[in-house]
Amino acid sequence: MTGTVFFWVLSLKASFSTRLLLLALALSIVPFTLAVDALRLLIGGLRERRLLMAPSVRCPAGHDVVLHGGWRCSCGVVFSGSGLSACPACGERSYLMCPCGRSVRNPLRRRG
Ligand SMILES: [Zn+2]
Ligand SMILES: [Zn+2]
Repeated sequence: MTGTVFFWVLSLKASFSTRLLLLALALSIVPFTLAVDALRLLIGGLRERRLLMAPSVRCPAGHDVVLHGGWRCSCGVVFSGSGLSACPACGERSYLMCPCGRSVRNPLRRRG
């Protein structure tokens, strides 16, 4: 995104002072976007930690699904630990199955 801004500033047909002003503006935005990115990473990391430490998650019907135990990934590998952690073999974060039969989406599953 920053590269685009710089390119746009350089390709702009404007006077030198206007370019300088825009460049200064872009430069003042850079630390801000970096800080926002760092904060987002930090919050994401904290959220992941908190979710991996959680003893249980709620199924859509409101049952508590205990997260610590043995889990079978869709690839067939069985692993222990939090049901929200990634499979050690394929990295997949599978859906969890509540004893009532409903599946619970792993909140750490990447979208798309
Ligand atoms: Zn797997
Ligand atoms: Zn349930």
